[in-house]
Amino acid sequence: MSLDIIKLLPDSVANQIAAGEVIQRPASVVKELIENAIDAGATQIDLVVKDAGRTFITVVDNGCGMSETDARLCFERHATSKIKSADDLFAIRTMGFRGEALASIAAVAQVELMTRREEDEVGTKIRIEGSKVMEQMPKPMSVGTNLMVKNLFFNVPARRNFLKSNEAELRHINEEFFRIAIMNPEVGFTFVSNDKELFHLYPGSLKQRIVGLFGKDYDGKLLPVNQVTESVTIEGFIVKPEFSKKTRGEQYFFVNRRFIKHAYLHHAVENAYKELIPQDCFPGYFLDIQIDPKEIDINIHPTKTEVNFVDVKLIYAIMHSAVRKAIGQNNLAPTLDFDVDPNMGIDFGEASRLDRPVVTPKEDYDPTFNPFKISPIRHQQQNWRIAYDDSGDTVADNHVADNEQLNPSTEEEQKSFYIQLQQSYIVTAVKSGLLVIDQHLAHERILYEKYLKEMETNAKASQQELFPHHISLNINDASLLRELKPELEKIGFMIETMNNTTFVINGTPADCKGSDAVTMIERILEDYKTNMSANQLDRKLNLARSLASQMAVKAGQALNAVEMQDIIDRLFGCAVAEVAPNGRKIFTIINADDIKTHLE
Ligand code: ADP
Ligand code: MG
Repeated sequence: MSLDIIKLLPDSVANQIAAGEVIQRPASVVKELIENAIDAGATQIDLVVKDAGRTFITVVDNGCGMSETDARLCFERHATSKIKSADDLFAIRTMGFRGEALASIAAVAQVELMTRREEDEVGTKIRIEGSKVMEQMPKPMSVGTNLMVKNLFFNVPARRNFLKSNEAELRHINEEFFRIAIMNPEVGFTFVSNDKELFHLYPGSLKQRIVGLFGKDYDGKLLPVNQVTESVTIEGFIVKPEFSKKTRGEQYFFVNRRFIKHAYLHHAVENAYKELIPQDCFPGYFLDIQIDPKEIDINIHPTKTEVNFVDVKLIYAIMHSAVRKAIGQNNLAPTLDFDVDPNMGIDFGEASRLDRPVVTPKEDYDPTFNPFKISPIRHQQQNWRIAYDDSGDTVADNHVADNEQLNPSTEEEQKSFYIQLQQSYIVTAVKSGLLVIDQHLAHERILYEKYLKEMETNAKASQQELFPHHISLNINDASLLRELKPELEKIGFMIETMNNTTFVINGTPADCKGSDAVTMIERILEDYKTNMSANQLDRKLNLARSLASQMAVKAGQALNAVEMQDIIDRLFGCAVAEVAPNGRKIFTIINADDIKTHLE
């Protein structure tokens, strides 16, 4: 006699198992309920939790509400008003669509739903416990929905025991709350935990919402991002590079306002910040990718936050350029207050040499458009007249003859325009105050960009060593030098391989004076290795950085007027004049107003 052994699981057990996929912890309930409220078109959502949501979670909204029948139906598995056919899946714009959340919650908690539509005179109240409807009755109430979830996992002790400390669970709830509240700034939110109001967010702009959630100091830290292309729009805010944090701070991507995680796109942002923030800092961002739902794969697990894009490479490129542009336009340019004080002479170099005709500088066409470019040359061109007009008029409708007299011709006169402070800083006057430049960092930036360019081209300028230097290295360093040799030669080193570990240096880059070639190579290799382990820069970036930091003028090195001028001119001709390759600030402006208050 054979015995059939397969049995169908009782509904209650099946429901509990299915629920486990959607509801792992109190934060999952909070997420699902708030998402439903958003989908229902609510403009005000109030969240209350007790004991980190273990014993009590309620979400009250003023959305569309449900009919009496829907109030019962919504707890059935796969009951949803959001899709009707499989085709709808490819056009989904709501937060939920699987019709599983309420069924799952009802399977593992005691739930009370009160809901009313505009067109109904009275609302409905339903009490459900472990998937069983305990009670249903009419309920007078205002339009909207009130969902109360008590004693989560009351019937699943294993799940209950799996929960973490209240602090940890509350952190999860906070996080889910942030993810939804950020991208719905036109919705008002309150969030009360154990009778304490944690957030009271008024409807407003995205920026106001970020400030409301993460603190007032964010007000001055954000840069708007807005990149509209045919296929996607990327919108939101990034945190200015100088406020990036050493801890992985606020990093939020959204797709059509739904929070996602995306390591590849994160890399695009990080990359855009590269060189602008120190190696051990993280950029902050709140960015929404608006895209046709057809271009993404939404058919993924409900609790997963990953999303697949059809053309992810394209999104990467747009993301990268959007962030670059935001940093370039909004952060760098305005702080570069290079309007010259008309009463203070500043030598802007070539353009002010009136003994030769003034030619409009050519601006090279750059196919790899760099949004950091601030066109300093144009700036100089516009300002040189003003710089030498000491009449006090700001408008430079001046005649060349006047300027000629004012043009400092001797070395002595020129010197007065720059001061070297402690043999480390170059100080000069600009319109708004005193510009103070760190000479080492400035030179490092200049050389860094120069070497990068030279590695791309073949424009080496070499100086022959009078006496070739032998250099002996250990096996690893020798192998590294062999690897870097082609690039080093492009920037002007002449290196000859003698044997496995010995080399001869016949020439060094033209602009590195006075340094000992062997020491230079050793330091570059050391620097390169440190950079390589600290951050995975690509080889050329790493090498350029190591070279620049080794070859730049050091603090404590005296500079003459011509050298100071050269540094200033070249610095402001750099793509990124603000920060050194290692992320440190190169210059600051001491405001004249500040000086004034100091003197009061
Ligand atoms: P889904 O959101 O995936 O459709 P849910 O189980 O979360 O599935 O909700 C089921 C249905 O219940 C929704 O499709 C919606 O019609 C209705 N519903 C849930 N919450 C609300 C709410 N706060 N206001 C109005 N209708 C709601
Ligand atoms: Mg839902």
